[in-house]
Order: sequence, then structure tokens, then C-alpha cells
Amino acid sequence: MRSLNMKEDCIFCKILNKQLSSYQIFENQEIMAFLDNRPLFPGHTLVIPKVHIETIFELEDHLAQKLFQASKHIAIAVKKAMGAEGIFIGNNNVIGQTVPHFHLHVVPRNKGDGLKGFFWPRNPYSTEQEISETQLKIQNVLKGLNI
Ligand code: AMP
Ligand code: ZN
Repeated sequence: MRSLNMKEDCIFCKILNKQLSSYQIFENQEIMAFLDNRPLFPGHTLVIPKVHIETIFELEDHLAQKLFQASKHIAIAVKKAMGAEGIFIGNNNVIGQTVPHFHLHVVPRNKGDGLKGFFWPRNPYSTEQEISETQLKIQNVLKGLNI
């Protein structure tokens, strides 16, 4: 089956149209999920839209909702199936993104599993004023978006 809006050289579009094989976990009209081939831990699953959208910035709201809902269900299944204590859900956009077709990672986690790569050094605010200014900047842009 072809993706609705495929990109020739995209690995995940190739997975969608079966030019490349994958270990599929889930599929509906708009979404597919399959096992990551270099998993952080067994059960690490990628959830993708069938349309070729590169990052969250181009993702339509209705599809974002569906992707997160599917990821939630897959998280429940992966947690139970893998006997994991918890689940990490994450997504890289541009920076840190190695495959430019939007995807959510659903990763099983256990206490002491050694997953340090997802924990970055923190950059604390220097002053209360910097916190308030940051809050205001983001709130102002958000207001302009009319959502
Ligand atoms: P990111 O670095 O956040 O863009 O994540 C891309 C993910 O895609 C990585 O975790 C890769 O291991 C995974 N990946 C790349 N190619 C394939 C493939 N052919 N099948 C399954 N997973 C893949
Ligand atoms: Zn693609």
C-alpha cells in the first residue's frame, strides 16, 4: 500500500509502501507503528503518520491527536508485553532527528536501565526576571497563534 503523500528517498515512506521491510505493530488509515531496528531496548516502537510530514511544525492538529492517542495505546501494550515498569515517549524535530519523517518513539523503561542519553545537562534560569520574561515571550507567541 502506498503512503498518501510519499517521498521517494524517505526510509519511512519506503517502509509504508513495503519497499523496505519492517516489523509492524499497528496500522490504521492514517498511522503505522513498527519496531525500531536499533532499539534502545527491545519493544522500542516508532509511530508514524502515513503522510510524509517531516516535523511537528507541519503536523496538523487532528493528526497530532491521533498519533498521540495511538502512541498511548502502544505504550500500554509495550509496557505489558515487555514487562516494563515505565515508558518514555519522545520525538526529535530537526535537531537530533536522523529520519526526517515525523515519528514518536515509544520506549520501554526500567529502573536502573542505564538510559542516560535522554537526560541532558540542565541550564537553570539566572534570575526570577529571566523566568518571567521567558514565560511572557512564549505566552505572547501562543496568543498570536489563535489556538
Ligand atoms: P530519530 O533519530 O529520532 O530521527 O529516530 C530515528 C529512528 O529510526 C532511530 O531510532 C533508528 O534506529 C530508526 N530507524 C532507522 N531506520 C529504520 C528502519 N529501516 N527500520 C526501523 N527503524 C529504523
Ligand atoms: Zn516519508
